[in-house]
Amino acid sequence: MSAKIGCDARVSDGMFRSRACTRAASVVRDGSHYCKQHDPVAKEARRDATQSAWRAEWNVKMARRRIEMAAPDLLAACELVAASSMRNEAYDACIAAIAKAKAAK
Ligand SMILES: [Zn+2]
Repeated sequence: MSAKIGCDARVSDGMFRSRACTRAASVVRDGSHYCKQHDPVAKEARRDATQSAWRAEWNVKMARRRIEMAAPDLLAACELVAASSMRNEAYDACIAAIAKAKAAK
């Protein structure tokens, strides 16, 4: 029975020093052995997934912020249209939007 090969990664001991990872290696990259946690390819994939999730969350926050910043102008424009238009589809849409915006306050 062959002995298990250990991970070649160095990990912090929490005291500004490093020690060898104690896990068994599961992959070989460029001649070095790595466990699943320290596999450079897996680490990059985890980092990419984290960045993608953060970027998606950031995009949602920024879209919400742009809408919030535009909301007062949009409300004012709707109120102008509602005050100056004949009753039609645009008028009804403005009235509905105004009611919805005021209910959200
Ligand atoms: Zn490791």
